[in-house]
Formats: sequence, C-alpha cells, structure tokens
Amino acid sequence: MASVTGEPAGTHHAYPCSACGARVEFAPGAGALTCPYCGHAEEVAAADREVREHAFATLAATPRESAAEVSAHVYRCGKCGATTESDHLSQVCGFCGAPMVAEVEGSGLVEPEAVLPFSVTREAMRGHLREWVASRWFAPSALKKVTETEQVHGVYLPSWTYDARTTSDYDGQRGEHYWVTETYTETVDGKSVTRTRQVQKTNWYPASGTVARAFDDVHVAGTHRVLPKHAEKLEPWPFEEAVRYRPDYLAGYETLRYEVEPEAGLEAAKAVMAPVIESDCRQDIGGDVQRVHSVATRYDDVTFKLLLLPVWIAAYLYHGTTYQVLVNARTGEVVGERPWSAWKIAGAVLAGLALVGGIVAAVLLSR
Ligand SMILES: [Zn+2]
Ligand SMILES: [Zn+2]
Repeated sequence: MASVTGEPAGTHHAYPCSACGARVEFAPGAGALTCPYCGHAEEVAAADREVREHAFATLAATPRESAAEVSAHVYRCGKCGATTESDHLSQVCGFCGAPMVAEVEGSGLVEPEAVLPFSVTREAMRGHLREWVASRWFAPSALKKVTETEQVHGVYLPSWTYDARTTSDYDGQRGEHYWVTETYTETVDGKSVTRTRQVQKTNWYPASGTVARAFDDVHVAGTHRVLPKHAEKLEPWPFEEAVRYRPDYLAGYETLRYEVEPEAGLEAAKAVMAPVIESDCRQDIGGDVQRVHSVATRYDDVTFKLLLLPVWIAAYLYHGTTYQVLVNARTGEVVGERPWSAWKIAGAVLAGLALVGGIVAAVLLSR
C-alpha cells in the first residue's frame, strides 16, 4: 500500500451508511448491504439483466489491454481522504475500513459478468475452520489459533468459464479379445506331461469416426495467487447460482484482478475438455480395448465469461513460514496447508514407547 500524490484517482463506488454515516458492506447471511454499526440494511442494486455468455470471437474486436499492462487503481477514500494504490478490483480502505469498488468500465480489463456472492458468514466460516482444525492430528497450536485470528480476508477470485460445441474426428484401433487353447508340457514326478491352458489374445482393427459434445461452464482459474492444488480442492462451485455482477456484492471484500488472459484460459479449458473427448472416442470405438492415435477437434460457438468466486482466506505464521487456509464461501469446504507439529508427534511417539515399556515392565515383574 503506497501513498500516491499527483496521480489521478480512478473512479470507485463508495458505500456510506445512509442512517449513521458509517459504512455498509455486503452481508453474506442477509444478502444485502448492511451497516455493522447501526444494523441499517440496504438492498443490493437490481441487476440490469440476466447473466450472459459472451461470444469468444468478440474479444478480438474489443479494445483491451493485457492485464499485466493495466496500471494499479488509485483509490482516494471518500471517507478519510487516504489515497492508496492497488491492483485489486475492490478493497477496504486500510485506514478507515471503508469499502471501495473500482469502476471496471474503461479500465482496459474484461469486466466481470457474474459473481457468486458470499453466502457463508464470517461466523459460519469460523465454525468450518474449527471442524477442520479439530480433524487435523498433530497440528501445532498456531493452527488451532487460526480459528480465532482476525487475519481472515474475504476475497473474490477471478475465474473464467467456457462453453463450446466440439466436433472431433479421431483415428485409432479397436481391440477385440479372443481366447486360444495353448498346449504346453510340464514335468511331474520326473515325467513329461502335456497340458492345455486358455490364453487371451487381442485382434486389432482400424477404427475412425467423429464424436460431438456440448461443454458447459468449463472452469479455469483466472489468477495464480492461489495454488492450483488448493483451488481444485475448493471445487465444486455451484455455478448455476451465479448472478449478474453488481459492484455492491464486492463491498467490504478484496477482489483480485485476473492475470490469466481469456485467450490463455481457453487453451487451458481445451486441456480440460481433451480427456472427456478422448473418453468419448473410446466409447465410440467400442470393442474390449481401444487405441486412440489422433484426435482433431473443431470448437464452435465458443463463449466465455468472467466470474468472481468467494473465498475466505486465513493466514497464519508458523516457524517463519506463512500457511494459508481457504474456505469456499458458498459450500464451506475447507482447504489448507498445515504444518505437522514435531513436538506433538515426538510426544505421541514417546507416550507410545512409554506404554510399550510399561507393558514390558509389567510382564517382567509378573514373572
Ligand atoms: Zn449505519
Ligand atoms: Zn478511508
């Protein structure tokens, strides 16, 4: 966070409380903008339309900058006047806590189309964290404290979703098993004996054809800031519950900008589709076993959208390393790294040894 002078401030949405002058922020349980001080609630501004998929072809025709080149947003807090620079699409003022949501229109970035608003409240999130911590054996005490820490941020992660109709021409082989009776000799009691056995063989036949499939909402992470292994474990997301983007849903939360361009996202989505298509080819080939030598896929009616996914992120420090625990703020799924407490493991091993020692001693004494 840096103070900037002389830099033009970008426009952002502000959220003063119309009742007490404090602030309103999006409250997960209520699904409305509420004031944490006086309890005043305001409806989220009505959506201008339904969630819509955008034709991928229109991307090239839309003036846009690469995300890496778009400069940081300069937030000038309307409440306390502090100026901060950030590459977040939304954040809270570091000085007074006022929610600020940057205006994306005209920023050079693709605008979010949809959002899964936070529905797991801060309190419910702590409950999920407690359950998760309780089920970790040998977790250090620092992990137990993660449930009490105030260092929990509500963050929206950018995500791309793609739809496409695919048509794939494949070339391969169909394998059909058959059994043959083989004769072999064996030595039994010094005598040579002739015996038979059934052996499985496979006949291979050339196979080629075309398979088609309609993919819906193939999802690709728009940021590298969350490790893929963690992001994957937060799934599944209830994509069908996504609503049209409104800045109000971001009030009080940090929203990361995407770093993965939509074109790169499409390539990643194709990699997600590939094994599904290959499985379709195998199904189409039939037989007992299949070989797929080549698949050529055409992608039609490709559409995409930028979707924001809600995650509670708790961080804790243990032996100089920061560990992250993430909670899916729609499903309550908890994903995280956890250090193993060497002390607790050593303690358990010693307790185990002491128990064994005690039994040995008891056996020896009873003799
Ligand atoms: Zn208020
Ligand atoms: Zn402020």
